[in-house]
Amino acid sequence: MTSSDAYAELVRRSREVALIQSCSAVLGWDQQTYMPRAGAALRGDQLALLAGWAHQKATDPVLGELLAAVEGSASDPDSIEAANVRELRHAFDRSVKIPARLVEELARITTLAQDAWQQARAKNHFATFRPLLERVLALKREEAAAVGYVDHPYDALLDEYEPGATTAGIRALFAGLEKELVPLIRAAAEKKKPRTDILHRDFPIDRQKWFAESAAAAIGFDFQSGRIDTTAHPFCSAFGPGDCRLTTRYNPKFFNEAFFGVLHEAGHGMYEQGLLPEHHGTPAGTYCSLGIHESQSRFWENQIGRSKPFWDHFFPRLKQAFPGALDEARTEDFLSAINAVEPSFIRVEADEATYNLHILLRFELELALLSGDLAVADLPGAWNEKFEKLFGLVPKTDSEGCLQDIHWSFGGFGYFPTYTLGNLYAAQFGEALKRDYGESEIARSVRVGDFRPVLGWLRDRVHRHGRRYRAERLCERATGAALSPEPFLRYLKEKLSQSEPVC
Ligand code: ZN
Repeated sequence: MTSSDAYAELVRRSREVALIQSCSAVLGWDQQTYMPRAGAALRGDQLALLAGWAHQKATDPVLGELLAAVEGSASDPDSIEAANVRELRHAFDRSVKIPARLVEELARITTLAQDAWQQARAKNHFATFRPLLERVLALKREEAAAVGYVDHPYDALLDEYEPGATTAGIRALFAGLEKELVPLIRAAAEKKKPRTDILHRDFPIDRQKWFAESAAAAIGFDFQSGRIDTTAHPFCSAFGPGDCRLTTRYNPKFFNEAFFGVLHEAGHGMYEQGLLPEHHGTPAGTYCSLGIHESQSRFWENQIGRSKPFWDHFFPRLKQAFPGALDEARTEDFLSAINAVEPSFIRVEADEATYNLHILLRFELELALLSGDLAVADLPGAWNEKFEKLFGLVPKTDSEGCLQDIHWSFGGFGYFPTYTLGNLYAAQFGEALKRDYGESEIARSVRVGDFRPVLGWLRDRVHRHGRRYRAERLCERATGAALSPEPFLRYLKEKLSQSEPVC
């Protein structure tokens, strides 16, 4: 077999695994949206079957032989072929270390755990979730041990979401952020509070749905290749070219929840829609890392969606969509309200400054859970204690404390830090975009509802590359510099220093 035949066979096999995974994604999406509760056990079996099948294909020893036959044959290390081989090798080495039994057990237990989490959260009853979380955690420890690590078991799990990142690196980055953020947030909290009551009026769900979908379409989410449904925990799941599912949840008494949720998920969706379909099923047609994925959602939600030019365009339309709710409000009042910085309990509703404190909290707790320094039974207490330290508040219930997120129920230890990485990448992309086009030119086009220059820049610098480069390299190529917290801190300081936010 020539090396080009071996490469073609590798790609064929990679696409086959991706197809199986996309079937799992359809079932996972259905589980979160329309599946009746009594279907949980059957769904667990279905997902376990597919996970086992995908794992079997992803660990076929033939893959090792094919990889060995093509490695070193590409003359350009930055070529699509070289990148695919590099990433397929990385994935193969990881997969073969995890026994099929563990993969299937994880799929089965996490499906049950997600169901228990939903019930526990609805009833505010941690004990319903606790035994399942203990089982998930034990399996994740087993996974970390199987994959192997040098410093901390967390490294082995983090690598799945943010290839190349380390616990020590994230710790250092977060320590620097915390140092600057906490005083910034304190200073903002001491200022006169903006009126936020205008966000808590009557916003009928059907009109919220229409308005949010119109905005998602305006910024560039393609509804010919996607849709939005309702769920308990918003997410974006891309099945492959032509089919990207967004979900959101509506609160008829609070505007932000669904609207900014949809902008956020649409940002994820547009990234998926911007991957090159010809590379589907290979690393070059896959998102770069979860931090980069999150940068795209944060970019649209915050950098664009909370800016003055955006609402210069949308605010008159918002008033028309909700007659009576905002009649006396000015654009400035609305901007101040949506940019208010105030410590609160729920991560997904947090402002972009305090949001990062929510991540620091989870990062510390999941490190402690994984290393065994913290027992699952002590999680609610530890959560509340750390929460008070960071935010000066204590959650009144576990539903607004340690039960609020889905992540641990699906075994997503190592996932949370990627949210804050996303904020940092988004701000750095924002600075580079403004530098390339001119800040006033970007503002002008956003003000008239033309988002093509912004989306075009992201398509060119980020989306089309898939996983051709690792996140750090992608960032350097897109912005001319390595990832740094400085652009995010500059963006935040500038916003917080103004009496009326403009960004
Ligand atoms: Zn997101």
